Amino acid sequence: MGANTPIEWCDATWSTVGGCSIESPGCIHCYAQQLAGTRLRKHPLYAGTTDDGKGRPVFNGTMTVAAPEHPTWSWPVRWRGLKEPLLGPGQPSLIFVADMADLFHPDRPAEAIDRVLASIVYSHHIGQLLTKRPAVMRAYFEELRRSARWLMWPHPIFGRSNFDPMVATFDAIVSRLWLGTSVERQAEADRRREDLRALSEMGFTTFVSYEPALGPVDWKGWEFVDQVISGGESGARARPSHPAWHRATREFCHTVGSAYFFKQWGAWAPACDGLGWRLEWSDESTTVITPWGSAMTWQGFHNARMGGDLADGYERSVTMRRVGKETAGRLLDGREHNDLPGERGRPPRTAHVATQRVTEPVA
Ligand code: SF4
Repeated sequence: MGANTPIEWCDATWSTVGGCSIESPGCIHCYAQQLAGTRLRKHPLYAGTTDDGKGRPVFNGTMTVAAPEHPTWSWPVRWRGLKEPLLGPGQPSLIFVADMADLFHPDRPAEAIDRVLASIVYSHHIGQLLTKRPAVMRAYFEELRRSARWLMWPHPIFGRSNFDPMVATFDAIVSRLWLGTSVERQAEADRRREDLRALSEMGFTTFVSYEPALGPVDWKGWEFVDQVISGGESGARARPSHPAWHRATREFCHTVGSAYFFKQWGAWAPACDGLGWRLEWSDESTTVITPWGSAMTWQGFHNARMGGDLADGYERSVTMRRVGKETAGRLLDGREHNDLPGERGRPPRTAHVATQRVTEPVA
């Protein structure tokens, strides 16, 4: 049971909810939306969750959840985990929960989130929850702690509830979950920071996914975060990311002692600094990206520069080539960056290289 997942920072993915809606510019080329409206459009979790938007599927805000009796609900408890998970042999596996949706969409019923989390906290694994709506995530966990209703969550196999030692304290919930938010530019970073900080102050391990990186981010104020993952966009309409954004993120993490994980370049790889005079400029697979994020063909760049408005960024611009995700790879300055959060209060740890990651489908 299962299939490979290409996501480098988890050991497995697991989905029991579907549906979402566009939240910010990072959503425009959402892979979940594309899959939900094409290959998976008849799947019970994704049927009816997208509309046709000028020839492309677009999430329409319909929320779905797996049938209550579906065996997938107990999968995290039944799954023994990878022999060689990212955290190393004998350690918990990392499950990216609801990778095909935003679990904390404001229209998602709290009962659905409760059920998802019960399956994780009764397992021996760690759930990675990633959202573009950290305010909703924060409100959910604050209310959960206040109400203490997790004490009544039934076990996904045995169904019993009431003070099971596995979930006897809120700390038990905290220890099984890593909570993250996506940011793509400074605006989203500023808007989402304080809600994630509040969750960090509640004791959760927190992380940021800066992917797709669409503009520079000044990470000042993010010193609390345990891990930052950065990466460029992949896919046919991918937008390039400037190498300096990833380097600055790495430097920030090393300075404050957070884990840094470079996920991928995505579709575009750096070809050379500056305008790259020796490249074929007529080729649409070449672009120039400025430090503040505008990407354009050489002709557009040249014209704008003649007008004077790009003079400042000229020296720091980089020529990017569309070579595809596989070719572009995931080396930054000649090496992989695979750091994961350490135990609370401990330094980051480097990921053990796992060879088989799995996806648990609802089918
Ligand atoms: S929030 Fe996530 S799942 Fe939802 S549309 Fe945006 S990228 Fe896709």
